[in-house]
Amino acid sequence: MSRYSGLWAYAAALGGAALFGLLLSFTPIGGQLDYWTYDLLLRLFPPPARQSSAVILAIDERTLAASGGLMNLRRPVGEALQILERYEPASIAIDIVLSERRDDAENEALARAIATEPPTVLAANLRADGQGWENPVEPFSSAAAALGHVHAEPDADGVCRRILLAKAAGRERRWALGLEAFRLARDATDILQTEDGLQVGDAFIPAPYRRDQELLLRYANPASPIERLSLQTVLEDPSAAEAVRGRAVFVGVLVLGGLDRYLMTPYSFGEPMAGVEINASVYETLARGEFLRPVAPSTALAAALLLAGAFALLFRRLSGWRAVAAGAGLLALAQTLPALLFQQDLVFPAAQTTFVAWACFLTGASYHYLVVRRQLEVSEAQTNRYQKAVHYVTHEMRTPLTAIQGSSELISRFSLPEDKQRQIGELIHKESQRLARMVEIFLSVERLSAGQLELRREAVSVSDVLEECVRRVRPLADRKRIAVSCEAPPHLRVDGDHELLEYACYNLISNAVKYSPAETAIDVRAWSSPDRILIAVRDQGYGMDSSELRKIFQRFYRARTAQQSGENGSGLGLAIVEEIVIQHQGSISVESQPGEGSCFTVSLPRGVLELEPKAARHA
Ligand code: ADP
Repeated sequence: MSRYSGLWAYAAALGGAALFGLLLSFTPIGGQLDYWTYDLLLRLFPPPARQSSAVILAIDERTLAASGGLMNLRRPVGEALQILERYEPASIAIDIVLSERRDDAENEALARAIATEPPTVLAANLRADGQGWENPVEPFSSAAAALGHVHAEPDADGVCRRILLAKAAGRERRWALGLEAFRLARDATDILQTEDGLQVGDAFIPAPYRRDQELLLRYANPASPIERLSLQTVLEDPSAAEAVRGRAVFVGVLVLGGLDRYLMTPYSFGEPMAGVEINASVYETLARGEFLRPVAPSTALAAALLLAGAFALLFRRLSGWRAVAAGAGLLALAQTLPALLFQQDLVFPAAQTTFVAWACFLTGASYHYLVVRRQLEVSEAQTNRYQKAVHYVTHEMRTPLTAIQGSSELISRFSLPEDKQRQIGELIHKESQRLARMVEIFLSVERLSAGQLELRREAVSVSDVLEECVRRVRPLADRKRIAVSCEAPPHLRVDGDHELLEYACYNLISNAVKYSPAETAIDVRAWSSPDRILIAVRDQGYGMDSSELRKIFQRFYRARTAQQSGENGSGLGLAIVEEIVIQHQGSISVESQPGEGSCFTVSLPRGVLELEPKAARHA
């Protein structure tokens, strides 16, 4: 794998992971994760426990028992309002829909109480068909200072986290009951709308148009919930109404299965909250002015992409445990980001960064482990083999060097007879030539494969080359009683480097001898086709299996049987042979069966150059 294709594969893996994380965040699973994170943060960082700005005047079981049921509430509510007025609450919101005419006398009494100070908001319900409002009947609607909607907006999982401050049905729009109670408490005549929110007197509510004027509810700390006062208690002991002074009063039914709807909230833990308390929570949120603001989706997306980029960079630059540790750190940062922002009253959609971070972390770490580690293993194995080969090469060089050293010492130290001196001189000459040839061949092949050396071109007789190789290998073969036959028509020739071609052929033939048991036969043959010359070396040796065959041309590779055979080797020979053959525009192939022998076949282009006379070449 080249450096750049590796980089592309890495970028594609990380990009794919980031995309997968993003897509997952847009599924219902992502939505649910956002909700859970939001609820968790709301519980972890509740508003401080303090006295509520609203009070719930609760029509509870006791009130219902005393008044005679849900249908007989108008009289006690009217009486209670009259008592409350004396204690000057900031505003009153009645969360009971007075949409039916009943007893006129009772209606008049209640309407009078509604009309007097403080200003009172009445609930208007959205009709079930969504086509209009179920408003309070007369005389209530004229007595009320305002009408407000009491429509909660539970999320997909049934939990109420937000309400819409404005709700339209038919041609009429109503502000939320809690918002109207807030406006009246603030003595504001109007609610002004802008792009970014609502202006009520000097209070600004960040409920932008683009988010449907939603308000994220900041429910009171469960340790100090919105205060409740039983309506029956007020009737029995009017002084109990002292609690409402300067606060907004929300009148509503607090009986499970009563008129009101109960909804789950992030603080519910299985116990739902009455609609009136949710409306009072709207007021509470507005009165405290501690608003939660959602982070823009584009910012969240940018953060997720930035995170993906950081992971990509991290796993590219760092390695080993450092990469994993830094990845885990970044993952932890991604996980704590929503909490950090929540403390600044910002709601960050956690799913995008969470899924992108985990997908990138897991992919980056696996990629790192699988690819980088594999590269490391390969290079370690190569280094290992290289060291062995260097060891072998130096060992091979030691033999001629020792001979040269010993012989030269003999000549310099002792006065030897002339014929002995000549004999030693020839030995030194032969061994130094062998050494020089060894070095020359290694260097030539290295330079050839690096493209630094141009191949020498001459007409080379194939039979000359093969006969020379067989002659050189014979002493080796004789020692193992291996018969070597050679059949090469004298007219075959190729254009190339005589010395390198001889090296290649000698290598194939000497390998055949090295890796064959005693008393077998080796057959060296050359023949021609119209445009190619083929040279085959066939033995009856140990052979190789297919997995070994795939590797024998790699540098420094030696098959297990070769290592066990006791024959010396570097694993460089065949790599060099292949390089030489390729440089001659040829190819090499092998057939082999374990225990049956091998056949190496070299195919070279037919030569076109004129063959020089033998004597001239050797001169
Ligand atoms: P070396 O002979 O120095 O080990 P080579 O590159 O010449 O290195 O050969 C690589 C390996 O290929 C050898 O170690 C041996 O395992 C295998 N091999 C080469 N020729 C033969 C053969 N004729 N028969 C069996 N195995 C062979």
